[in-house]
Amino acid sequence: MKKNDVEIIKITDYSTEGFGIGKALDGMTVFVPNSAIGDEAEVLIVKALKKFCFGKILNIVTPSPDRIDSDCEVFLRCGGCCYRHIDYSSELKAKKKRVFDAVNRIGGIDTEVNDCLSNGKITRYRNKGQYPVRKDGNGNITAGFYSLHSHRVIPCDDCILQPSEFSEIVKVCVEFFKKFNISAYDEESGKGPVRHIYLRKSDFEGKIVVCIVINGESLPNSKELVSALKKLYFVSGVVLNINLKKNNVILGDRCKTLYGKDYITETLLGVKFNISPLAFFQVNREMTEILYKTVAEFAEPEGKNILDLFCGAGTIGLTMAQKANKIIGVEIVKSAVENAENNAKINNIENAEFYCDTAEKAAERLAKKGIKTDVVILDPPRKGATFDLIATVCNDFSPEKVVYVSCDPATLARDLKQFGEYGYDCKKVQPIDLFPRTSHVETVVLLTRNEK
Ligand code: SAH
Repeated sequence: MKKNDVEIIKITDYSTEGFGIGKALDGMTVFVPNSAIGDEAEVLIVKALKKFCFGKILNIVTPSPDRIDSDCEVFLRCGGCCYRHIDYSSELKAKKKRVFDAVNRIGGIDTEVNDCLSNGKITRYRNKGQYPVRKDGNGNITAGFYSLHSHRVIPCDDCILQPSEFSEIVKVCVEFFKKFNISAYDEESGKGPVRHIYLRKSDFEGKIVVCIVINGESLPNSKELVSALKKLYFVSGVVLNINLKKNNVILGDRCKTLYGKDYITETLLGVKFNISPLAFFQVNREMTEILYKTVAEFAEPEGKNILDLFCGAGTIGLTMAQKANKIIGVEIVKSAVENAENNAKINNIENAEFYCDTAEKAAERLAKKGIKTDVVILDPPRKGATFDLIATVCNDFSPEKVVYVSCDPATLARDLKQFGEYGYDCKKVQPIDLFPRTSHVETVVLLTRNEK
């Protein structure tokens, strides 16, 4: 296939990004956005590479039975969702298959994968919104979401994954920027003060903390912004985050509180958590409870010593602390560790301690100290665990169980392979949909030490 060729393609699978995949007559793999398994479509090749190409649907000859009408105006222009055109049960099947394929092909592990868990809530499930603020084509300041694979901002009045209050806050902020002629950050030059509007909502309080990420030490006329935001009854705090770095990372490492509370208070499985802007917190609270229940089911924490690596604000470990003998948490972000320590206190939990360090260094140090652990929980960021960390966990701690929580099936599968080489068998694989309508899927895996 070459660019501008047209062929009828049958879609048989989804890519990790949620594009439909089919084969052309010459055997070439074709990725087709907005297509569904079961579609037969006339496809125009828009980009051809050596081993695969990208196509665009010109005309659907036979539509997939999974197809539904998308309910979002910016679907596929915005890089957020990829499954708004298929019914949700088909999306869950696709996510289960994605995890299965990764574990089997990349991990080389022959194992069953459970059906993807979900509570069925596919709109307004997010508690966090991150809106890049940029200049649009007409030079006006705007906020929205990045389009796929680019930093072009697609304005979106009301994203139905987020709480409806978020759009009101974004509107107030953009009006404020316009009124005071405050310009947007420009990624190329690294100039311009306003980078992102970053919002977090607590279901428990029904309140939102507004964080404006700025490229500078202060925001001009910020008192006016605070007084405009205070008029919204659901705003409990306004914070500036200082990010002077010329990179893609959203948050800088310092915050200044302008008004009210700088953290949200949330509950998970009956445990209360204060979460500051720089601490990680899962974006889908209801599904996080299902995630943590699954982790506890796999870990069986009763009377056990548990090492919670990549612990964020201590959430996984603290929801198990009542049953466990001892929890040790490790996390690299200082304010998350401060949150974790305080979260233990406010819940009267006395058998948990937390260290601010990299998981790699802390694991080595704790192992040298002779700390014994029955269960290791690993919840690394998307890039997964390092080779050395897995070696330390298996060789120095050799816990009976490892519970691996992953947000990327590919790095998970790579890591499971290494665990296998170190004598850990993959016993249960449970995909959990924390991110309906998007390509993302969370997975919890139970590994147990084999006798060999
Ligand atoms: N278990 C937590 C957080 C998971 S997200 C929860 O469920 O909320 C992954 C966490 O790992 C983040 O908090 C991130 O700050 C932290 N992190 C990233 N790299 C790390 C490293 N090398 N060592 C320790 N923590 C790290």
